[in-house]
Amino acid sequence: MSTTETPTAKERMAIERAAMPEQPAEERVRNFNEVNLGLVEEVAVREAQRCLQCKNRPCVQGCPVGLRIPEFLEKIAARDFAAAAEILQADNALPATTGRVCPQEEQCERLCVRGKRGEPVAIGWLERFVADWMAEHATAPASKADPSGFRVAVVGSGPGGLTAAGELALRGHEVTIFEALHDAGGVLRYGIPEFRLPKRIIDREVANLEALGVALETNVVVGRTLTIGQIREQFDACFIANGAGLPRFCNIPGENLKGVYSANEYLTRVNLMGAYRYESRTPVARGTTTVVFGGGNTAMDSVRTARRLGSERAIIAYRRGREEMPARAEEVKHAQEEGIEFMFLVSPTELLGDEDGWLRAARLQRMELGEPDASGRRRPVPVDGSEFELPCQVAVAAIGTKANPLLTGTAPNLQLNKWGNIETNERHQTSLPDVFAGGDIVRGGATVILAMGDGKAAAREIDDFLREGASA
Ligand SMILES: Cc1cc2nc3c(=O)[nH]c(=O)nc-3n(C[C@H](O)[C@H](O)[C@H](O)COP(=O)(O)OP(=O)(O)OC[C@H]3O[C@@H](n4cnc5c(N)ncnc54)[C@H](O)[C@@H]3O)c2cc1C
Repeated sequence: MSTTETPTAKERMAIERAAMPEQPAEERVRNFNEVNLGLVEEVAVREAQRCLQCKNRPCVQGCPVGLRIPEFLEKIAARDFAAAAEILQADNALPATTGRVCPQEEQCERLCVRGKRGEPVAIGWLERFVADWMAEHATAPASKADPSGFRVAVVGSGPGGLTAAGELALRGHEVTIFEALHDAGGVLRYGIPEFRLPKRIIDREVANLEALGVALETNVVVGRTLTIGQIREQFDACFIANGAGLPRFCNIPGENLKGVYSANEYLTRVNLMGAYRYESRTPVARGTTTVVFGGGNTAMDSVRTARRLGSERAIIAYRRGREEMPARAEEVKHAQEEGIEFMFLVSPTELLGDEDGWLRAARLQRMELGEPDASGRRRPVPVDGSEFELPCQVAVAAIGTKANPLLTGTAPNLQLNKWGNIETNERHQTSLPDVFAGGDIVRGGATVILAMGDGKAAAREIDDFLREGASA
């Protein structure tokens, strides 16, 4: 069968899942270039032909934004990439990003019928293929509604804010994004490293928004430079998507030593400020041994960054077991290939310094798993008398983040939950009727696609709110 013919069901079943070409591990630990190289056309077409086009489309139910997956796969299988791009773009403003960072194995691909007896269709890789094809081929620009006369402010330029801004601009509203940092993209820019999500992709997404007329004001810290009250006076509505970027610390002695970072600071120094380049004005500590506390995506990004910065031993120290690690399967696989060491069932109790105040070792304690906690995962319990020292020069705490009170603390009447996250109703509306919110500031640490889903849904609600108000 050639890739130009429509395969029969039997032929579709006989096709094996494509392999993603990658930079070899021994090469990539010496650079920050993207690890996954992307599928070539022939391979993508064949992979899309594996889709059985099931009637009940379980993959769509597995996607938080309900992407019409079988439809765009069918277009790829028929080599109509422009049509595939159109379908994808209608529901997903940042497909080149989600095609790279979505946890597909827990979402669309987990429910793919082909996965019941073998490997699911590589939906994420095909999404990326179409998005990259779009970047190389001019596609028709999305049509924009006539100016509505309404002005909307968006706080934060992460995936939630960018998506909302794009949707609002398409609906004819005048949109201004206020971003605290000097560059747009949120976690996509300062958190996720270049080797997983190249910065040129975020640059492209931001340029598309600017072409739609969205104004981006960087270096504006809402809550300091400008308050929500002032925004409400100047704009007709506001969408808050300022993320949950306040790091949690281990709260152990020695966390103020030189060489000890939160993952946010460590990754921001490297990704946003370019500290991986020796000539960068922003320094970052490099050591022969780096230990990272945590087991999520942020921990994996930090430890793989440390490896690329030259650590011979780059170690994940996680207080639960391999099964409980929340990081994406692909990141764990890549980390293993890159020589990352994994220490399970250990937790830090103290960080020890030398006479100059630099980190020299971490004291760790062994743990065992007890009864399940509120998250349903078995709670780690310390094992008495099991402490030991691990010599290291750099330590990174990647144990989660929470809402930053900087914005919310200066917005009285904005209702928060007990964790400091903004409360919203089913319309994404906060306790202030003209203020909407979404993404991590509402959900706590979540995912890119969920933040985008909130941005899209909130934009629809803001549009209704503005037009309802105008016609009242
Ligand atoms: C290292 C790391 C790796 C991750 N990997 C993945 C992954 O592989 N897959 C996945 O799906 N998810 C991943 N996540 C989670 C995902 O990135 C987030 O869920 C997502 O970015 C949330 O989007 P957001 O728009 O709500 O906020 P953010 O992306 O956090 O963006 C918020 C923006 O608001 C700005 N801001 C904050 N406060 C203010 C203020 N007061 N005034 C103005 N601007 C402000 C910030 O500077 C930032 O630019 C990862 C997270 C981290 C930290």
